[in-house]
Amino acid sequence: MLIWTEKEELRKLVDLLRGKGFRVVAPVLSEGVIRYREVSHGGELPSGVAEKLSRGSYRLIEGKEGSLFSYTHGPDSPKGYLHPPLTELLRVKPDLSQEIPLPVGRFAFLALRACDLKALDILGRVFLGGLFVDTHYAKLREGLFVVGVNCTAPSEVCFCGDMGSGPQISGGADLTVTELGEGLLIRATTPAGERVLSELKGRDPLPEELEEEEFLIRRATEKVMGHLKVENLPRRLLARLEDPRWSRVSERCLACGSCTMVCPTCFCYEVFDEVKPDGSESVRLRQWDVCFREGFSAIHGVPLRSSVASRYRQWLMHKFSYWMEQFGSSGCVGCGRCIVWCPVGIDVRESVREILNDG
Ligand code: SF4
Ligand code: SF4
Repeated sequence: MLIWTEKEELRKLVDLLRGKGFRVVAPVLSEGVIRYREVSHGGELPSGVAEKLSRGSYRLIEGKEGSLFSYTHGPDSPKGYLHPPLTELLRVKPDLSQEIPLPVGRFAFLALRACDLKALDILGRVFLGGLFVDTHYAKLREGLFVVGVNCTAPSEVCFCGDMGSGPQISGGADLTVTELGEGLLIRATTPAGERVLSELKGRDPLPEELEEEEFLIRRATEKVMGHLKVENLPRRLLARLEDPRWSRVSERCLACGSCTMVCPTCFCYEVFDEVKPDGSESVRLRQWDVCFREGFSAIHGVPLRSSVASRYRQWLMHKFSYWMEQFGSSGCVGCGRCIVWCPVGIDVRESVREILNDG
């Protein structure tokens, strides 16, 4: 099912989904960046805003008047909602009675780009695809509704085309939106999507509108390809594990972990217990952790990766090499967030090229 509709209809979609009981998470303008936040009405969606993204730099600029998606994404991704930075796993009383505090509410994610849809798929493999199913992640993902957006305005840090994840959506969404100069094309790709789409106003698209969509996606695809040679990448990197270039590519790294925080697929966490000062309860918490922290690799208090270079190598190798064997896909979707939010502007594409001497 496919319709052409007015841009205003997207705002109505927010209200429609809220009316169906979803907690709608959508892009909003906040603190000078585009953030993913739970919204209470469609009027909160940004309009006429674009971004200028580059190494270590994020700037909002004016976009075409009335445009809804002239930007890609800020630092947030769905990860923050399905695998929150801090999660209560368990509460234990002095009489040893236990309670597992499970989250409530179904999420609807609005305006996810193809790279973030791929990241959702990857996180699903991590938390649900192994021997243990993560109860909290599974609960938060239950009944999820996703509205994807075909990205027609990629930034200079995007390389989703190289990583095979974008810019065109190829799965993982219930509805897929393409913004045209005038209006939107909205496709339903699941039965849930069809039910929702049938409640929006629209008409059959004209042939020229379909041609415009094809042109916009083709133009975006050209921009997000050719940044990284991915053929045999995991094996080629493995062969360079002891290469002296690792010290050079990581010499500017501050080991701050910002890249892992914004990465939509980084999932590492630590678990610790906190006892209430009055002794009435003990709470087990899960908190995001960072492989750039010296203590992250400590065994019996001794860090295995004591140099920053060894930690940078671990992060990059996990993303682009080890992940393949572990989860059957790359750990990188080419969203470019780590490049933008690295305070010293380290570009992971450049690091890979340098290690592989790919020029
Ligand atoms: S490694 Fe960087 S470019 Fe790749 S998915 Fe993570 S944040 Fe995005
Ligand atoms: S690569 Fe950049 S963001 Fe990542 S830990 Fe190093 S300095 Fe921080």
